[in-house]
Amino acid sequence: MSQQPAYKRILLKLSGEALMGEQDFGISPEVTAFLAREVQSVVDIGVQVALVVGGGNIFRGEGLARAGMDRVTGDQMGMLATVINALALQDAIERIGGMQARVQSAIRINEVCEDFIRRKAMRHLEKGRVVVFAAGTGNPFFTTDSAASLRAIEIEAELMLKATKVDGIYSADPKKDPSAVRYQEISYDEALGKRLGVMDQTAMVLCRDHGMRLCVYDMSREGALRRIVTGETGIGTWVN
Ligand code: UDP
Repeated sequence: MSQQPAYKRILLKLSGEALMGEQDFGISPEVTAFLAREVQSVVDIGVQVALVVGGGNIFRGEGLARAGMDRVTGDQMGMLATVINALALQDAIERIGGMQARVQSAIRINEVCEDFIRRKAMRHLEKGRVVVFAAGTGNPFFTTDSAASLRAIEIEAELMLKATKVDGIYSADPKKDPSAVRYQEISYDEALGKRLGVMDQTAMVLCRDHGMRLCVYDMSREGALRRIVTGETGIGTWVN
C-alpha cells in the first residue's frame, strides 16, 4: 500500500448517529477514540483534515418540530447538538496524543470554541491541526451535509468524504432489497435524478456546481480512510 497521500486536504463528514455506536443516544467514547485513530492515520502522512459532525444523536430540528416545537428553535437545538459532538471529537483527537484540534462554530459561543473564520481555519490546517466545524451552516432549515459541502468548498478541500454505515451508494436500500447493487462511481446528476439517498439535494448541488469530488464509505472499516486517502478507489462510491 502506498503511504503517499493522494490528497493534501480533505473534509470528512460524520453523522451524529455515527457517534452513538451501540447506544441509542449520546456519544460512545469507544467510537470517538476509533475515529480519532482513523484521523490520526491520515494526519500522520501529512494530510490536512477538517471534520464536520452532525447532531442527529442528540437533536434534530425536524423531529422536534414534528413533536410540536417551533422549527427554528428545534434547528437551533440541533446546531447546538453538533457543537457538543464537535467538542467530544476535539477531546478524543487530542487525547490520543500527537494531534491538535480546534472547534470552529458557525454560531458564536466564544467561551467554548472559536468562531468559524475561513482564513483562520485554513491556517490551522496548514499547521497540521484538525479543524472540527460545528453548528452546521449557522442557519435553520439546513443540514450538516450542506454545511460539509459548503465548508469543503470554502477551505478548498480536494476531496469530501461522507462516512456512513454502508459501504457506499446502492441502487436501492440494501437492507430492504437484496438485488440492490453498489455503485462504484456515479455522477451528481444521476444521483440527483434517481433521488439516491446520499445527501440532501442542496448539499449535492453545491458539490456538483463547484466540482467537489465525494467519496461515500463505511466508516466502521478500520483503515478505510487511510486507504482512500492514499489513492485506493475501489472502496465506497465516488461521486463526481
Ligand atoms: N441544523 C441546522 N442548520 C445547519 C445544520 C444543522 O439547523 O446548517 C440542525 C438541524 O435541526 C439538524 C440538526 O442541526 O437536524 C442536526 O444536523 P443533521 O440532522 O444534519 O445531523 P446528522 O444527521 O448528520 O447527525
